[in-house]
Amino acid sequence: MSLRIVVTVKYVPDATGDRHFADDLTVDRDDVDGLLSELDEYAVEQALQIAEDADDAEVTVLTVGPEDAKDALRKALSMGADKAIHVEDDDLHGTDIIGTSLVLAKAIEKAGFDLVVSGMASTDGTAGVVPALLAERLGVPQVTLLSEVSVEDGTVKGRRDGDAASEQLEAQLPAVVSVTDQSGEARYPSFKGIMAAKKKPVESWDLSDLDIDAEEVGLDGAWTKVDAAAERPARTAGTIVKDEGEGGKQLAEFLASQKFI
Ligand SMILES: Cc1cc2nc3c(=O)[nH]c(=O)nc-3n(C[C@H](O)[C@H](O)[C@H](O)COP(=O)(O)OP(=O)(O)OC[C@H]3O[C@@H](n4cnc5c(N)ncnc54)[C@H](O)[C@@H]3O)c2cc1C
Repeated sequence: MSLRIVVTVKYVPDATGDRHFADDLTVDRDDVDGLLSELDEYAVEQALQIAEDADDAEVTVLTVGPEDAKDALRKALSMGADKAIHVEDDDLHGTDIIGTSLVLAKAIEKAGFDLVVSGMASTDGTAGVVPALLAERLGVPQVTLLSEVSVEDGTVKGRRDGDAASEQLEAQLPAVVSVTDQSGEARYPSFKGIMAAKKKPVESWDLSDLDIDAEEVGLDGAWTKVDAAAERPARTAGTIVKDEGEGGKQLAEFLASQKFI
């Protein structure tokens, strides 16, 4: 039986770009470059390694996002994923975490899965909760924040490193896992991989393909609303200390005044 691995990948604004809010207080994604969320590259990498270790496996990458989100899928396909699914719909604009998890769960059920692999968090919303919401909606176990993961005889196993201890965890498939940025370097797409990605299938689905009503998603369906947004004040130069013998003392006084020490 082929192991069906679905990797959720998010298309995010380039952090080095000029990120700002649009008039409706959502993140303006129109004239900002975007890319595959870096933390999801680790999810793609671990899914590919599990597939390489399996007798027969297929890796599908899935994203919910605007037209340009296809770039995130292309990157994951060029790393080695087999096929992709892009859920795109104008009514998804402004969808919150609850709505995103609904759309992802419906798409994963429609695609069919044995293992869902997600990143530990996206690099823009950074909530870190979508994997848990997915497991709840799919009715399967979740094993999150793994720094090491493998699949053996229908069981997913992994190690989660905490501050004081590391846990060895496992769950029966089907299951949802998320992996951290400590799970191992993500491979760079080879030229051969980039060329092969151009021929790999990308299915496009909208809300009607998933039997989701528009009012369950988007700004109208959001459980949370951004009431206001203000530019962060420009960073000030800070205090310059010229050390004429008293530098250490002045630094200690400054740190004490800021209650750092
Ligand atoms: C600055 C900012 C603040 C936000 N604040 C809130 C908020 O307070 N409350 C709220 O409900 N929504 C919020 N949102 C919207 C929220 O980011 C989106 O709904 C998002 O799709 C899910 O949240 P996340 O990115 O934080 O996911 P996380 O829980 O951080 O994502 C974890 C993993 O889930 C997968 N994933 C997440 N989104 C997608 C996607 N669209 N397609 C495929 N895989 C995905 C990825 O594998 C990712 O690594 C915010 C968005 C931004 C940009």
